[in-house]
Amino acid sequence: MSLGRSILLRAAQSRALNEFALKSRVVKRATKAFMPGERPEDALDAGAALARDGRRILFTKLGEAITSLAEADAVRDHYLGFFDQVAARKLDAHVSIKPTQLGLDQSEAKCLEHCLRLAAKAESVGSALWIDMEDSSYVDRTLALYEAVKARHPGTGLALQAYLFRTPKDLERLRPLKPVIRLVKGAYAEPATVAFPRKADTDSAYEAIARTMLDWARTGECTPILGTHDLQLIDRLVAYADGIGLPKGRYEIHMLYGIRAKDQDRYRAQGHGVATLISYGNAWFKWYMRRLAERPANVTFVVKSMFG
Ligand SMILES: Cc1cc2nc3c(=O)[nH]c(=O)nc-3n(C[C@H](O)[C@H](O)[C@H](O)COP(=O)(O)OP(=O)(O)OC[C@H]3O[C@@H](n4cnc5c(N)ncnc54)[C@H](O)[C@@H]3O)c2cc1C
Repeated sequence: MSLGRSILLRAAQSRALNEFALKSRVVKRATKAFMPGERPEDALDAGAALARDGRRILFTKLGEAITSLAEADAVRDHYLGFFDQVAARKLDAHVSIKPTQLGLDQSEAKCLEHCLRLAAKAESVGSALWIDMEDSSYVDRTLALYEAVKARHPGTGLALQAYLFRTPKDLERLRPLKPVIRLVKGAYAEPATVAFPRKADTDSAYEAIARTMLDWARTGECTPILGTHDLQLIDRLVAYADGIGLPKGRYEIHMLYGIRAKDQDRYRAQGHGVATLISYGNAWFKWYMRRLAERPANVTFVVKSMFG
């Protein structure tokens, strides 16, 4: 892992920095590059504008590792209301949650109950629920959660991280369920015992796993989502899909709001299913530090906003 990335990911854990950032108008302004605003309405308005050109939207309320089950109940209630707003606006939009935001640390049973409720609500309004993957200590519990929710709500999706050594086996385990998988490179600081320390190895692993998913998509055994901004990688995988005769509609490309916006439009214009993940909420500090860590050059952008 590069020094810049590791410093930024470590800084993400700092409570003092978190408190400073949340109060700093300047830092807040800099986050605008990656999120339209803290309020759900900010996200919904931005989503509605993007959806006009045929893009699907994914929404997520920032926040992770809550400390009480009452907070998890509140997050569930928030999303139940949010699905109603998505339906009222007739948006083609899904919602992505983090299991620790819904009580995974406090009670796996409660977390499952919340996810089942949200997946059912999503289905009732023609939407779907996505489950994010957090750090490696959560993978076993998140897979079990996904298996239980997917069995009852087939449209539910899960993120898998290419940087983890275990991911090809996890994917194999999920295969009988015909999983809907958003493959990402992985955003957390992981030890070299569980994840590739070198980016080049993660990139190769991504390509190999994505090819497997595209192969399985031919027989309907997987719905692959390429969750990355790595354009060369996407282009190689699109060429691979074309080569095996997999039509564009059988897989999608998902990216984050504010990153590679023109390329998102371009892929859409080429006939690909493209979705943009929009975040909102005031618990943006850790999430924002992960975005900076993905591209330490973004730090320059923050510094410029401070002086400009
Ligand atoms: C839809 C979606 C959902 C995700 N869900 C999860 C999840 O559940 N769990 C998880 O661990 N991670 C998740 N991630 C984050 C992911 O793991 C990576 O950290 C992130 O996508 C950056 O890696 P990359 O694939 O874009 O490739 P990289 O090789 O890191 O980047 C490729 C290129 O994209 C551009 N780019 C990438 N990141 C940025 C940035 N922050 N700012 C500006 N340009 C950038 C740069 O030009 C870079 O050269 C998600 C990502 C996406 C797109």
